[in-house]
Amino acid sequence: MQSWNIAYYNHFNMNSFIKYLNPVSHLGKKEYSVLFPLIFSITIPILSEIFAYQIANNPNIVGVYIIFIDVAAIIYFAFLRGIRGGAVAAIFPILYYLYIIYTRQYRDTQLTSAIETTIILAVLYLFLAVIIGWLKQTIDNLIEKEADGRRRLEAIIEQLPVGVIISDRNGKITHTNKQLETILGTKIPLGFVLGKDSNPLLSTHNGKPTTATQSPLYQSLNSGKPIVRKEFSLQRPDGKKIYVQVNASPIASHNKRIIAGASIIHDITPLREMELRKDDFINMASHELKTPITSMKLYIDSLLTKVKGYGDERALRSLNSLKYQTNKLQELVSDLLDVSRIQTGKLSFNREVFNITELIEETVDQLKESSRHHKLVFKSKTPIKAYADRFRIYQVLTNLLTNAIKYSPDGGEIEINLKRLKSTIEVSIKDSGIGISKEQQSKIFDRLYQVTDPKEKTFPGLGMGLYISKEIIKRHQGKIWLESQKDRGSTFFFSLPTGNLK
Ligand code: ADP
Repeated sequence: MQSWNIAYYNHFNMNSFIKYLNPVSHLGKKEYSVLFPLIFSITIPILSEIFAYQIANNPNIVGVYIIFIDVAAIIYFAFLRGIRGGAVAAIFPILYYLYIIYTRQYRDTQLTSAIETTIILAVLYLFLAVIIGWLKQTIDNLIEKEADGRRRLEAIIEQLPVGVIISDRNGKITHTNKQLETILGTKIPLGFVLGKDSNPLLSTHNGKPTTATQSPLYQSLNSGKPIVRKEFSLQRPDGKKIYVQVNASPIASHNKRIIAGASIIHDITPLREMELRKDDFINMASHELKTPITSMKLYIDSLLTKVKGYGDERALRSLNSLKYQTNKLQELVSDLLDVSRIQTGKLSFNREVFNITELIEETVDQLKESSRHHKLVFKSKTPIKAYADRFRIYQVLTNLLTNAIKYSPDGGEIEINLKRLKSTIEVSIKDSGIGISKEQQSKIFDRLYQVTDPKEKTFPGLGMGLYISKEIIKRHQGKIWLESQKDRGSTFFFSLPTGNLK
């Protein structure tokens, strides 16, 4: 036990001694004490004198070798202790050379040349001490500045209200902050390598352990591209389910080489929980509204039959307008229900083979009556089969057509086309209405999104139609997109895969 202690003690001392001697390990530390150079610079002349007088018995033996030792000592001490250390290591040898000239009693030419040499060496030594010492002090300042910057950045990262992960370019985690631990309920250990190690403490919402390759930071380091707003639901070690939004980006050097990666983790659990509560509420409210609206419609229909019998024109007009408004209300409630079904993953489909040409014709015929200013043109007569949920496709068509009518306030032609391509059926609806600007185009399929242009605020709507249409088409493995120019009209397209249909 004791021998181990001694060994450990020796080992420890040896290490710190080597560290003390090694000038590189002092870089960045402003330690300019002159004690060590002073002791060394006094010891060397004393040893030289002992060697010359006691061992070699020749006072003149102190010669060139001492210059080598002194030059090496100046370089070393200037690098270890800066200008001061170098200066001490330079001044003492010069004093020693003067002492030699005095004690060895040089005369005439020997004296002149010895003094000349000492002056030249003095200049050289001081020059070396200043240049190397200055270099060391400049490096110290730079390192200190960088360390200060890093400390400042670390303090900021620590204070941020979001979780932060910083890794090196291989995905090895080098820094995390306190907030990350608070969000995840566990610590990601430093040195953890993304893509190699897996974190058994974190699991996805369905209880499976997260694989580190799913990490956006890992993916962005691999692809060299930033990843934005990726959402995950995770299960913390304490069992709590959380939702996080993650951004990750590689950090590149000035020559575009990836040197590190950074990831920001945002806890969106409260937001998500609120959204879920809101969806639940919408779901419940629309369910509750469905029944009274259905009975209202029944009452209106029976009243209409009665009033028709009396021949009361004014009452008939009022009832017809009541029926129209109730239908609108029913459509709204059914859209609300669909949105909440999409949100909760409960939108279901009954697929069947049907003639889509016929479906378009029917839908167009129904909508023709809704506006006298618009001319709906559908020329394709070739029957084309589709395998999809007929009612849901009807819903998409109605939505795109009513939008085409609604957003062409000056009337005009609306052209509907149907094409059978190699592996898809493509439907397009072209209007010559108000059009949609480039930046709005990517957003109009989002839930509850409406163009915010004050001119367009006049169009009624809740921004649910395109969102529902997109989900329906997406769930049919199809695509929905548009081509549009502001004030020049829009063309909406959707395609459905034909699969095995002949
Ligand atoms: P809503 O029509 O109820 O507002 P939608 O989801 O159907 O909701 O449409 C979202 C937004 O897209 C609309 O508010 C409108 O600004 C824009 N939009 C949709 N169709 C067209 C179109 N054919 N022409 C111009 N803008 C359109």
